[in-house]
Amino acid sequence: MSDDRVSFLRGCIRDIPDFPKQGILFKDITPLLADVDAFRTCIQLMAEALDGEPVSAVVGIESRGFMFGAALADKLGVGFVPVRKPGKLPAATYRAEYELEYGSDAVEIHQDALGPGDRVVVVDDLIATGGTAQATGELVQQCGAQVTAFVFVINLIALEGTKKLAPTPVITVLDF
Ligand code: AMP
Repeated sequence: MSDDRVSFLRGCIRDIPDFPKQGILFKDITPLLADVDAFRTCIQLMAEALDGEPVSAVVGIESRGFMFGAALADKLGVGFVPVRKPGKLPAATYRAEYELEYGSDAVEIHQDALGPGDRVVVVDDLIATGGTAQATGELVQQCGAQVTAFVFVINLIALEGTKKLAPTPVITVLDF
């Protein structure tokens, strides 16, 4: 995306070196959240990029995907579904695992959260390797639903995470 609104939003992302560990440049979205104009602009850009695509639910990935996903769901006039780390959701769940640099992690969704015929937008604050988003896409499929698009505030382009999500469309507001 490229317009004045995007430049404004870029200025609301704070770089924190060596967090949560040495060598990671953490992209801190809290200044964007704290600025109501920035937050609204970000959600507006996401909605515009979806371009009237039919959507029946927004799926947000724990935890920063909840903030952007819930606001986008409200904007689109559809419900919000949380995807959480293992053991957090109270009812019956599906589970998908993904690889980390060392070991693996997993995400879960309520089995009855989505069903056949649902067309879903998956939202997170940032895509790095794409592993978390790919696993979330698998959860949506396990429910019998379909991912219409993946939406991220930030794309760390050098890591090429969006390649893992092809051929599903990927919308990113800010590329770094
Ligand atoms: P990945 O599965 O590698 O695409 O990682 C994406 C998840 O990790 C997202 O939920 C991000 O919030 C978080 N994440 C990964 N790298 C960063 C980073 N450099 N700054 C902030 N969050 C990150």
